[in-house]
Amino acid sequence: MSKAERIKNALQKTKERRETQRPVVFQLKLQNLSRKKEENLRRAFLEAKWFYNWLVSDLERLNLPANKVGTVEVKVGDVFEERELVFLGSQIKQEIADRLKDNLRALSKLKQNGHKVGHLKPKKFVNSVPLKQYGVTYSLDFARNRVRIQKLGSFRVLGLHQIPPDAEIANAVLVGRPSGYYLHVTCYLSKENSHRKSIGGEVGIDFGVDSKLTLSNGIKIDFELHETPRLKRLQKKLAKSEKGSKHRRKIRHLLRREYEKIKSRRKDVQNKILAFLKLYEKVVFQEDLVKGWAALFGRQVHASGIGGLKARLRNSLVAPIPVDRFEPTSQECYACGKRHKLSLADRVIKCECGWTCDRDVNAAMVILRKGLIPHPDQAVGLDRPELKPPEREAAARILGASPYIRVSFLQ
Ligand SMILES: [Zn+2]
Repeated sequence: MSKAERIKNALQKTKERRETQRPVVFQLKLQNLSRKKEENLRRAFLEAKWFYNWLVSDLERLNLPANKVGTVEVKVGDVFEERELVFLGSQIKQEIADRLKDNLRALSKLKQNGHKVGHLKPKKFVNSVPLKQYGVTYSLDFARNRVRIQKLGSFRVLGLHQIPPDAEIANAVLVGRPSGYYLHVTCYLSKENSHRKSIGGEVGIDFGVDSKLTLSNGIKIDFELHETPRLKRLQKKLAKSEKGSKHRRKIRHLLRREYEKIKSRRKDVQNKILAFLKLYEKVVFQEDLVKGWAALFGRQVHASGIGGLKARLRNSLVAPIPVDRFEPTSQECYACGKRHKLSLADRVIKCECGWTCDRDVNAAMVILRKGLIPHPDQAVGLDRPELKPPEREAAARILGASPYIRVSFLQ
């Protein structure tokens, strides 16, 4: 067999194996960095930026063997200076060039399809460095809790225990953040081993401001992701600090770190809510305009992260069923379909037909019904969905794990 054939065979085998696997990304934190190692890491990101910008400024350079490039010209003020690439391994350089080629291909495709596309611009920061081949560009030592990165050496990492022993380890990305350096390792896990127990069935969601999410089965999910007092303090300090001073730079850095913390909290909350909703077979929600809410309630809506959650709902659930946003779901009696005029202060809908229900739960039930039965004349007289013990258990287990999420059950 020739080398080309062997590679082709191996790729085919990987492709078949991936069908039975699911990708999971684990985050490891690089720890106990000596001053020297931290300096080297900073330099690696800088070199990645130099190399990227060097390629972007003259795309003909993509025809050169990227792994062999040892020095690049870097623009310093008005002149160019030579810089040596000391900490970028050959595979890493290759991958940066390949990524760039991919981007260019995607851009030209967009252009072909009639979109307006700009040129690739040089970057001011590069905060991720691709580590493509496990075992070559990087390797993990589970016994000693360490990672070895090509040309950068060995680092102690936190979080290796998350990776199950049967995981197949693939690519990684070295990420630089205000809070430190991380390794995002992509692993492939067997689909069969996933412990996720499905609840099945369907659920409707009403998004609100008061209770962030209300489900048609009576579960209310609220989360608090306000700006921290520390953030406000730092912002005040920044405003008072002298422009260009060292003090100001330091506060900037602390601010970035605080933003990152808030962002990752928000993401964690979203992940947990999504993990819970994924247990259902069908999830129905209304395509509201978050903008409309923001106009009514100001910044608070923005900070609550509802918009991001909806986008992720749309993208990651198996069968999301959006209901038209102009459907007046919050004012309609679930039992008889009569329209009511509720003010924001009315927390309960009380209908002449005898139906009394929490207003948000009623709305979630109406949304569920409209999603399942698109014809409004068929839309009355369905049973009230009951909260099943597995739902209660899963909600407590998944959502209860976050200190920023409050769950309550109305039934
Ligand atoms: Zn009614």
